[in-house]
Amino acid sequence: ALTGHKGWGPLWRDPEPKPAYDVIIVGGGGHGLSTAFYLSKNFGHLKIAVLEKGWLGSGNIGRNTTIIRSNYLLPGNQPFYELSMKLWENLEQETNFNSMVSQRGIYNLFHSDGQRDAYRRRGNAMMLSEAGAKLVDAADLRGMLPYLNFDNARFPIKGALIQPRAGTARHDGVVWGYARGADQRGVDIIQNCEVTGFRINNGRVEGVETSRGFIGAKKVGVAVAGSTSRVMEKAGMRLPIESHVLQAFVSEGLKPLIDNVITFGAGHFYISQSDKGGLVFGGDIDGYNSYAQRGNLPVVEDVLEGGMALMPMIGRARLLRNWGGIMDMSMDGSPIIDETPVSGLYLNAGWCYGGFKATPASGFCFAHLLATGQSHEVTAKMRLDRFARGYVIDEKGVGAQPN
Ligand code: FAD
Repeated sequence: ALTGHKGWGPLWRDPEPKPAYDVIIVGGGGHGLSTAFYLSKNFGHLKIAVLEKGWLGSGNIGRNTTIIRSNYLLPGNQPFYELSMKLWENLEQETNFNSMVSQRGIYNLFHSDGQRDAYRRRGNAMMLSEAGAKLVDAADLRGMLPYLNFDNARFPIKGALIQPRAGTARHDGVVWGYARGADQRGVDIIQNCEVTGFRINNGRVEGVETSRGFIGAKKVGVAVAGSTSRVMEKAGMRLPIESHVLQAFVSEGLKPLIDNVITFGAGHFYISQSDKGGLVFGGDIDGYNSYAQRGNLPVVEDVLEGGMALMPMIGRARLLRNWGGIMDMSMDGSPIIDETPVSGLYLNAGWCYGGFKATPASGFCFAHLLATGQSHEVTAKMRLDRFARGYVIDEKGVGAQPN
């Protein structure tokens, strides 16, 4: 049937940069493109460009393990991630693109009474914000996921917190859907255009220096994920962000086995199965700061040990490949969507290892901020100065495993 697929054109134009725009978005990852999409859709009169130093989808948006969920606890985060989930649920209709959004459910396993209490509390917070949650004990779980190691485990599985609406989405499909939608609304998507500096006059941004020359802008929004500290340094800012590598792994294709997402609660390991049959899994970040898009062997060993502890049969599967992406780790594990001390320069960063699920709401809210100058209500606490003021959103202390 594939031989019948002929005459496909590019999904977006390849324009030359104009001398100036109303809004320039730096970074053609998921967050930059969704920002451009919602900016052009909801505030249509603006001249907008997305500047990407490589090709669209070459960063974390094309490297993640595709998990989407809104099982957060804290008031500073939960409404934001629930907005994102609602946008995911309508994404394919909104972009008219098959992003393979699959609400197959996430199972966060717990292994102690204390962890069950914490998950029960989290589940209650999720129910209050309409995210939906279900707590099951080991007996019920055994019927649902019989291949887990229930009988001979160092950390026995006592049950799981389930968010049935969580799941996965095809990450490239998300990039392409947002890019095409933004392009159709007149956004110039300019690839191979690296931002090398900012022109700032009297505390106000006037545009960006790029590998293709100066481009003027009334407002600049930076959404460069793992490159945040390097890019913002060019505007004279030192941020509460460290960059670390996060690795992911995929096995050879297997027959359908795992029809949901599972996170291990006693170690860093989480897993799902792709529609091609590969087991897609990951774990903790590499423990040192790095801008390299590849990790090191200790984490490979740690992740695979986690897999063996949770579902020993994984030892029979062959590993197909692994890769890494650069995480913008904020100091409280929560994101920043805010204007910076430079007037007209806005920041979208601090996504740690969980920014894929945030892609729709991040763009929606960053667009709102760029267009109106006001934070959207669900990002009101995601301020850049919260670290100095002591108003951190410390979700990490009680967070689920990375995904
Ligand atoms: P990116 O795609 O990295 O976009 C940033 C872009 O900025 C890049 O394309 C880069 O080339 C560009 N750029 C950088 N510097 C410049 C410059 N100077 N000029 C112009 N452009 C520039 N999140 C989840 O929610 N669920 C998951 O299951 C999950 N799993 C993950 C697994 C792995 C292995 C990794 C690496 C990440 C995972 N994440 C997950 C996190 C998620 O992928 C990121 O938080 C999110 O993709 C970051 O936002 P982005 O898509 O905009 O980033």
